[in-house]
Amino acid sequence: MERQREETRRIEAFRKAARTILPLPEEEVRRRAADGTLTELTGIGPSTAAAITDACNGVVPERLVKLEATAGPLARGGEELRARLRGDLHSHSDWSDGGSPLEEMAMTAMELGHDYLVLTDHSPRLRVANGLSAERLARQLGVVDAVNEHLGGSFTLLKGIEVDILDDGSLDQTAEMLGRLDVRVASVHSKLKMDAAPMTRRMVAAVRNPHTNVLGHCTGRLVTGNRGVRPQSQFDAKAVFTACAEEGVAVEINSRPERRDPPTRLLELARDLGCLFSIDSDAHAPGQLDMLDYGAARATEAGIDPDRIVTTWERDRLLDWAAARL
Ligand SMILES: [Zn+2]
Ligand SMILES: [Zn+2]
Repeated sequence: MERQREETRRIEAFRKAARTILPLPEEEVRRRAADGTLTELTGIGPSTAAAITDACNGVVPERLVKLEATAGPLARGGEELRARLRGDLHSHSDWSDGGSPLEEMAMTAMELGHDYLVLTDHSPRLRVANGLSAERLARQLGVVDAVNEHLGGSFTLLKGIEVDILDDGSLDQTAEMLGRLDVRVASVHSKLKMDAAPMTRRMVAAVRNPHTNVLGHCTGRLVTGNRGVRPQSQFDAKAVFTACAEEGVAVEINSRPERRDPPTRLLELARDLGCLFSIDSDAHAPGQLDMLDYGAARATEAGIDPDRIVTTWERDRLLDWAAARL
């Protein structure tokens, strides 16, 4: 449901039901399924109770059968490149504006076959998204360490941030905290309508900052979806991408279908200027981690050399690159 971007409210009903069921002894769940008393539990309604009852009876719930019947790749044309992607540098948990715990994001990334996932919750100024203060981020890093201890090494949840690019091009987190992270995505979220000249200075300053590894959704546009549409910000793309190429900062190919950012013309410009790229999901829920299909299709269509896409790299090469300018 998440990968098909169904309504959050309907998805949340299933996640809530799962949270209610998980801690209960299996015997109780089976008894309630048999008695028809599952709906007495908080967070379980008729449709989630039906799915649980089917599962107890060894029947695949009808809803899941339907979803799985339509579950092929989300986009055509990028399959070969998609198979080469080893991870994702941009994802959110419920520490900021994502819908699920970071453990669940990590588990789903493992299921998808990723070697790594960078957790990039928002920075403090983005209050609407419950951005993390330096203190909360420090706490999150401890949780990430604990999660990795349980995962055994074949997959790593990497430490990151989607840090706001402030009006003057500085980054919205302390240098000390930024230095403790593995990967930093820098994005513009405010004053998207700024004039082109100051916007260019702002973005170039952020790219020149040695902490920046990835320039997130560079134009900020929205092309479809329930948040409506938003035009792309105005800036001198040649100047910004030249700075990216010189600094070794990756231009993000944001896979979310409502963003499709950068637009094709800019994607080709960045390609011609010699930039690195990062194909990211910007997932706010586990199922959305699969959206890389869209980005892989766009990168393939633009004829981008896979070796210039940092998310095709092995984890250690990626980490060396991300630490190189510090
Ligand atoms: Zn963002
Ligand atoms: Zn994001």
